[in-house]
Amino acid sequence: MVVIGIAMLQGARHAHIEAIQRAAHELSMEIEIIELRTIEDLQQQEIDALMLPGGESTVMRLRGNDETSRLLPALFSWMRENESRPVLATCAGAILLADPQDGGEPLIEAEINRNAYGGQADSFESPLDCGFPGIFIRAPRFGEVGDEIECTLSGEVVGVRRGNRIALTFHPELGEDSRYHRMLLEACA
Ligand code: GLN
Repeated sequence: MVVIGIAMLQGARHAHIEAIQRAAHELSMEIEIIELRTIEDLQQQEIDALMLPGGESTVMRLRGNDETSRLLPALFSWMRENESRPVLATCAGAILLADPQDGGEPLIEAEINRNAYGGQADSFESPLDCGFPGIFIRAPRFGEVGDEIECTLSGEVVGVRRGNRIALTFHPELGEDSRYHRMLLEACA
């Protein structure tokens, strides 16, 4: 049984839960999904992988650093304790990895600029260079990237990988293709 933790701080959480369940079904894998809201949720049960959804990184920072939660620093420690732990971070989640703002090392090596395609009205859908449906919502944009390139849109980096840690600027949970959620589960094997 593989245990997937999902940060429930804010944002696109339920679509990710469905996408993870779909991916598990496709892989015939038995999984359990743990909803993480506070540091205690992470301490009570060992997780094998972490899903960091999109949303608003400012709200996630406020909620996740608040005394009543303290989840965010706990998640950063969990990732730093073992570099190979599988993580899938999308959009705002990618912003948190690239720019944790906790005085520690970034979790992926990439510059990231928030809302760099514009606001909500400039959200767009476009197939990535690999054909994957890219859904970009108030998306950030990677600048210089030091880690491995995971995927591109017209040559521009939209996904970065460091081992089992993947950061995407789009929303894979909103399309039909569960490739990235499958990668998260497969990395647990
Ligand atoms: N604009 C958001 C931010 O800056 C990210 C958008 C998203 O996650 N869809 O945090």
